[in-house]
Amino acid sequence: MTIDTLVPFAEAMERYEPVIGLETHVELGTRTKMFCGCITTFGAEPNSQVCPVCLGLPGSLPVVNRTAIEYTIRIGLALNCEIASWCRFARKNYFYPDMPKNFQISQYDEPLCTNGWLDVEVDGRTVRVGIERVHLEEDTGKSLHVGGATGRIHGAEYSLVDYNRAGIPLVEIVTKPVPGTGADAPVAARLYVTELRDLLRSLRVSDVRMEEGSLRCDVNTSLAPRGASQWGTRTETKNVNSLRSVERAVRSEIERQAAVLDAGGRVIQETRHFHEDTGTTTSGRSKEEAQDYRYFPEPDLVPVAPPIEWVAQIKAALPEAPAVRRARLRAEWGLSETDMTALANAGALDLVAETVAAGASPADARKWWLGELARRANEAGAELTALAITPVQVARVAELVEAGSLNDKLARQVIDAVLAGEGDPDEVVEARNLAVVSDEGALTAAVDEAIAASPEVVARIRGGKIQAVGVLVGAVMKATRGQADAARVRELILQRLS
Ligand SMILES: [Zn+2]
Repeated sequence: MTIDTLVPFAEAMERYEPVIGLETHVELGTRTKMFCGCITTFGAEPNSQVCPVCLGLPGSLPVVNRTAIEYTIRIGLALNCEIASWCRFARKNYFYPDMPKNFQISQYDEPLCTNGWLDVEVDGRTVRVGIERVHLEEDTGKSLHVGGATGRIHGAEYSLVDYNRAGIPLVEIVTKPVPGTGADAPVAARLYVTELRDLLRSLRVSDVRMEEGSLRCDVNTSLAPRGASQWGTRTETKNVNSLRSVERAVRSEIERQAAVLDAGGRVIQETRHFHEDTGTTTSGRSKEEAQDYRYFPEPDLVPVAPPIEWVAQIKAALPEAPAVRRARLRAEWGLSETDMTALANAGALDLVAETVAAGASPADARKWWLGELARRANEAGAELTALAITPVQVARVAELVEAGSLNDKLARQVIDAVLAGEGDPDEVVEARNLAVVSDEGALTAAVDEAIAASPEVVARIRGGKIQAVGVLVGAVMKATRGQADAARVRELILQRLS
């Protein structure tokens, strides 16, 4: 049924309870494709990275990429899954122009990894998201619809297909249904994908770039009246391509489904498309059932049977999980949970860690990255990591301030110059002569000059108006082009006048 008005989110939450679920596709960062030796570099000339196997030409035979199996096991272990000792690939039969074989080699009832979990911190409480399965398949090619206004097939004059992506190893991570998050459901969905992305990045199995499509997300949402004994019918919102959109898609589906249920209607099990511009979803196609795909074991491939010792080796070599690392760094740096969340949200965690490793104090590293540098990144509309300054350079600036060679104002000038490509902090300080004037003789001379130039200010200070010292400090700072240590200048003035 079509509805015109959505139910406001807060109102929907008074009457209904959402259940969410997420299916995430991750393109693995292997050098070659899943079943052939074609290179996987992103952005190459269309159809330049193809061969008879990934083009599905008759007579060609697939061979499994060992690294893709290893990466998938690594993901499964990091998600606390059981790893199958024996499993098979399956053929998923359907026609689609960007899939040249007319079937996709995937996994069906024998996935490589099953039954795990990932903990997600949502507003101070831990939500354990169950992982149903992690399986391996091949990606499809990419269609480009030319001539239409929307880039969709409707209204297009013709379509082009690029098969470079066809056959790139793709891991699908499917959660179990997640009940009980209530009004936090949209946020919980976003935080789950965020945590998963950070985990995958730490495992070095994918570059996890949502904007390039190497991490793609389908969001399942269902709604049932509060206290109902059964969950509602779920919809699947496809290819939501940013973290923010994950949250918006769940929220929008809750508002829409609440309106359907309020009107006495029935939610239809279907796929839906999320629209970035309006933040709403529209109906796609009614959802296929598994039998529509006529799955059967892939006859061209032998089963996969990873030896127990190999799995144990992969497990032993797993890196520290992001959540564990965050907790460790928080304790080491003495930060509050809120400070740590701010660092993580700003994408500054690794930068601060590297700056601390380069010798800065955690407080200084945090101050520069979340303050001055976050402001620069914001002005440039760029990520912090895209700024033309390295953690080592930031650590050096902090060190120069700590040593008294720079004050904060000079330090900001040094940072400006480094960002402008004028070299390392030390080169900038030297080339622009930016060091704090620490020569007592030169400072004393400047102080004497300022005192001589303002007899009326001196009279006020001697008359007990100590705060008037600020005027003289300002004069000295101006005379030294801001390169004096203001605290030291103040001391010298008071000494002179005592
Ligand atoms: Zn190929």
